[in-house]
Amino acid sequence: KQIPLPSDIYGRRKNSAGFEFGHRESLDRLMGDLSKPLPEVKAGPLVAGVTSRAEEKRVTSPADRSKTVGTVKEATPADVDAAFTAADKAFKAWSRQPVDTRAACLERMAGLLEENRNRLLALLAAEAGKTLDDGIAEIREAVDFCRYYADKGRELFGAPVQMPGPTGEDNRHLWRGRGVFGCISPWNFPLAIFLGQISAALVAGNTVIAKPAPQTPLIAYEAVKLFHQAGVPAEALALLPGGPDVGSAITAHPRLAGVAFTGSTKTAWAINRTLAAKDGPIVPLIAETGGINAMIVDATALSEQVADDVVVSAFRSAGQRCSALRILFLQEDVADGMLKMIEGAAAELNLGDPSKQNTDVGPIIDENQRQMLADHVAEMRVKQKVCYAGNVPETGNFFAPHIIELDSPAALTREVFGPVLHVVRWKAKELDKVLAAVDATGYGLTLGVHSRIESTIRKVTEALDTGNVYINRNMIGAVVGTQPFGGSKLSGTGFKAGGPAYLMRFAEEQVISVNT
Ligand code: GLU
Repeated sequence: KQIPLPSDIYGRRKNSAGFEFGHRESLDRLMGDLSKPLPEVKAGPLVAGVTSRAEEKRVTSPADRSKTVGTVKEATPADVDAAFTAADKAFKAWSRQPVDTRAACLERMAGLLEENRNRLLALLAAEAGKTLDDGIAEIREAVDFCRYYADKGRELFGAPVQMPGPTGEDNRHLWRGRGVFGCISPWNFPLAIFLGQISAALVAGNTVIAKPAPQTPLIAYEAVKLFHQAGVPAEALALLPGGPDVGSAITAHPRLAGVAFTGSTKTAWAINRTLAAKDGPIVPLIAETGGINAMIVDATALSEQVADDVVVSAFRSAGQRCSALRILFLQEDVADGMLKMIEGAAAELNLGDPSKQNTDVGPIIDENQRQMLADHVAEMRVKQKVCYAGNVPETGNFFAPHIIELDSPAALTREVFGPVLHVVRWKAKELDKVLAAVDATGYGLTLGVHSRIESTIRKVTEALDTGNVYINRNMIGAVVGTQPFGGSKLSGTGFKAGGPAYLMRFAEEQVISVNT
């Protein structure tokens, strides 16, 4: 329930992927820094040689709508064109230099993130409503992405690989950047996913045009400024804040060479259609989308552990993670007892100001999302309301964690992005029905299993094609380099972020055969 002490998370120790993070720092100093007023961020397009003429829009905090966090000028069509012209021109120079030069920029970026961590943490809380433990984990993940992709980039894009061949012929295989990459990212990981996409595209030799979610332009602006400070030329990385219009202008642009997108399945379809309708080079789409993620619990599971893991998986980050648990299948014999424990654990959660140390659940990102959750709960045919936990503060977009029981899994037909947990009971000997119901969602992002029977675990994992399967633990917070993250079917195209194959999708191969 408490945030990990900074000596755990900020301490100079290695994470499971072998990366070191941070320096020792006292909790008092961190809280002291967080209590200072955050200077308003004035964000806008970052395009080499261009000053935006757009109007300033106010960015308010989801935890307190009366609080202005900063202002943003959204990109105009002229900014989009100027960014493509600059990035296209910069591509050859950026892609033809040794990978070491590009990887070193990512490593300097990791160092800058660590140096600026307290300011970034404060901004993550203010603009995105991130609790402190979520913010710390996000900065950690951002640092890990930079270092992991720098390492993998060196491995993959270093010296060309000599291929076997007949005497008198020399064959070499190498990778090249594709051109100008569009990186379109979500508000729920406004730093880690935003810069994970950018780092991968840059180290592979692409130049980048990045569009953050309209809800979180300020963190993106700060991150792009840090990339420039780390040595990425302004021409090689442009920031275009804005909404769907800016996104469409990027994906429809004739000079676009690839897209990395994280967000809804619906938007991924729209991008795919835009790319397919264009003549010219065939543009790849790397999409990471959502899921109706299930956890299957049988009668042998340890109830205390189930309760903890369910609450973390469904309600941490106010359920605003693609990986979050949406539908819990409880074996009938133990369902009442387990539900009581889950309800008890949910009732302990503190809702409120995300920058306070004892807050477990922060706000919903904006009023539209909050209303969507309220409408969903009101419209759902519910067998039983198990609980609506916590007092909801009045100042911001808060929504209490909800647990509702359904008659049938078929009642849940779409991803509901927030702290709403749906529960369905299943009868012993009817595991096949549960597996069919999970499969029928069409998604394949995360799956949780709680059981102490080896054959049940094997059966479930073999039956489903889900991208990330978590057994006897919670099902969120994939670690870069340890749990490469991403799904199949409606959940995305792969390759997995933070995994060994991810960078390949950002590059093109070339084979040079010489008659010697
Ligand atoms: N990688 C995150 C996790 O494992 C989820 C990313 C997302 O929500 O897009 O929880």
